[in-house]
Amino acid sequence: MRIDKLLANIGFGSRKEVKQLLKTGAVKVEGEPIKDPKTHVDPDNQHITVNEEKVEYKEFVYLLMNKPAGYLSATEDEYQETVIDLLEMEDAVYLPFPVGRLDKDTEGLLLLTNDGQLSHQLLSPKKHVPKTYYAVILGEVTEEDIEAFKNGVTLDDGYLTKPAILEILTAGNQSTIHITITEGKFHQVKRMFESVGKKVTYLKRISMGPIVLDEDELKIGEYRDLTDEEIEALR
Ligand code: URA
Repeated sequence: MRIDKLLANIGFGSRKEVKQLLKTGAVKVEGEPIKDPKTHVDPDNQHITVNEEKVEYKEFVYLLMNKPAGYLSATEDEYQETVIDLLEMEDAVYLPFPVGRLDKDTEGLLLLTNDGQLSHQLLSPKKHVPKTYYAVILGEVTEEDIEAFKNGVTLDDGYLTKPAILEILTAGNQSTIHITITEGKFHQVKRMFESVGKKVTYLKRISMGPIVLDEDELKIGEYRDLTDEEIEALR
């Protein structure tokens, strides 16, 4: 990869600015100043520094966020804040995007990556990646609801949902539940409860496939890199 492209990609400015930076001799490859922007470098195998600081370059980023309510699962929006606004510059420069969507008022586990292939794979209906949510429901969730969700319920647009596992944690006028679905229709969990006459008042995703949100480790609004083992488990 060309040195000017690499440095521009990871946030050292525009190609023009990077060219100026190179001219100053601040950029070294294996200790030798590199001034020609066209120089090809191999960031995996060569030691590249800017002002004696090592440049870390990776092709892909894989982030696990505990999404707060109030942020859109999108990369940009004219008026509202998006989950990308929660990222440090050093991660945002890789242009990650959310893997699927959580509603603006939904909290919890959100993966972000710039690996289009993995994202596509995880969202593919064929893959049936299970997603588990914790929810607070206005109304008493019953054994009939468990049965209905197991058999599939018809949403407001006529769509029959695939089997879902509903577990009642506490029942009453307000119930708390876990639900596991393998699809990702728009507002799916909220609409499934609407179909049985109940309302979701709080929703948080707690797992996606093999990745489980640890809320002690990752507070709301925080994120971390996935480990190599977690990335492998997702493939
Ligand atoms: N189902 C919903 O209704 N909303 C979400 O954000 C995720 C699943």
